Amino acid sequence: SEVATMMDVPTTQVISACMSLGIMVTMNQRLDAETLSIVADEFGYEVDFVTSDIEESIEEIVDAPEDLVLRAPIVTVMGHVDHGKTSLLDYIREENVIAGESGGITQHIGAYGVQLDNGQKIAFLDTPGHEAFTAMRARGAQVTDLAIIVIAADDDVMPQTKEAISHAQAAGVPIVFAINKVDRPEANPDKIKEKLASMNLLVEDWGGKIQSHDISAKTGQGVKELLEKVLLEAEILELKANPDRLASGTVVEAFLDKGRGYVSTILVQTGTLQVGDYVLAGKNSGKVKAMQDERGKNVKKAGPSTPVSILGLDGAPQAGDKFSVLEDEREAKDIASKRAQLHREQSVRTQRHITLDEIGRRIALGDFKELNIILKGDVDGSVEALTDSFQKLSTEEIHVNIIHKAVGAITESDVLLASASDAIIIGFNVRPAGNARQVADKEEIDIRTYSIIYDAINDLKDAMEGMLSPVM
Ligand code: GDP
Repeated sequence: SEVATMMDVPTTQVISACMSLGIMVTMNQRLDAETLSIVADEFGYEVDFVTSDIEESIEEIVDAPEDLVLRAPIVTVMGHVDHGKTSLLDYIREENVIAGESGGITQHIGAYGVQLDNGQKIAFLDTPGHEAFTAMRARGAQVTDLAIIVIAADDDVMPQTKEAISHAQAAGVPIVFAINKVDRPEANPDKIKEKLASMNLLVEDWGGKIQSHDISAKTGQGVKELLEKVLLEAEILELKANPDRLASGTVVEAFLDKGRGYVSTILVQTGTLQVGDYVLAGKNSGKVKAMQDERGKNVKKAGPSTPVSILGLDGAPQAGDKFSVLEDEREAKDIASKRAQLHREQSVRTQRHITLDEIGRRIALGDFKELNIILKGDVDGSVEALTDSFQKLSTEEIHVNIIHKAVGAITESDVLLASASDAIIIGFNVRPAGNARQVADKEEIDIRTYSIIYDAINDLKDAMEGMLSPVM
């Protein structure tokens, strides 16, 4: 209806134009960019996408291979609650001493860098947990290169351990396992490794490819070796960046400090950030007045994979916002204010995520090759049965991909994973718990719940064949 008004034609004509393209729509349905362009073209109009215009004005520089140098890996620590994520991050933060510097890192700025004896560096994101990791991903920020998944050796592979594994895998981030608390008499690292093996996650000692190390975050036993394994894994990834260009990266956190104004911790991912640069970060901008590292020391420059907190932005950008340095201040200000304006105008957001109703159409358009599903159920038996049946629905055109399955209610973290991976959520005899429904509404994630296995399979089958009658 909106697009009909813009083109000054009756809504019914737009609907029939869609139908002639094989797309069944209702008056209030939102069309995706591609469909919009085709429909507008039918009426002799060309669609101009304002948002991309703004983003295009930020130049995407493609680096020449010879300009790229190795950069430090950026690591997130995940795992079940109380398995020792915070303890591990604290131990690394406090024990690691950069050559020639005494004392550990005392500042909590959301990220920190450490240097091993051999001079190699690692940057850690200091907000442990897969929720933070996936929330950033849902905002479009892929920051983490590697995930350390902590499992307590006196416990078991727990539900959140499995979640963390699914979240890392969905992001395509390699995993290094830290089997923690081996100082405890009840610790049984082999039991954990056996359990991982039964989940098709073979660690090195078990003849597999996944790195793992037994550690104690309390005594520090094995932590150094764990970090060496992280670096080994990073080497395979050949992480590179060009330090000789204007910096860009991601905002890790930001807050208002009474005395200093807005303080934003950012992670430089490429280029080198310098004091005096004009920064655009999300809907904010400003000239970098000062920069500090995790030790509270003033620095003038920050290269790739370096976290720094900066002063000088005119507000607090959100965690996961991208930042970039622009040549001049006016441009940075312009884009920031345009973004803020767009944000205000777009009170109704266009549909970003896949829904069951849309699958058939997207497959027909041919731009949809993988259907991601998060599957939650009341008992293991039904989860496994549905996994099998869903996977069998894969065709040559479309691959059904169960990115996470587990027993239990649909949680906020499932919704964030769906948002980050463009997935739909199917619940069998379970419902959304806590804030999950609210977050799903905000993120526009399709949650379907069933109590009959046959119905769930049939709905998905119909949807994939484009036969599902649309929900009006
Ligand atoms: P998180 O919830 O994963 O961040 O877990 P924490 O780091 O807060 O640790 C949970 C509890 O386990 C705390 O009481 C820690 O002191 C304890 N803990 C963590 N690592 C170890 C370890 O290696 N050995 C022992 N004995 N206790 C540990």
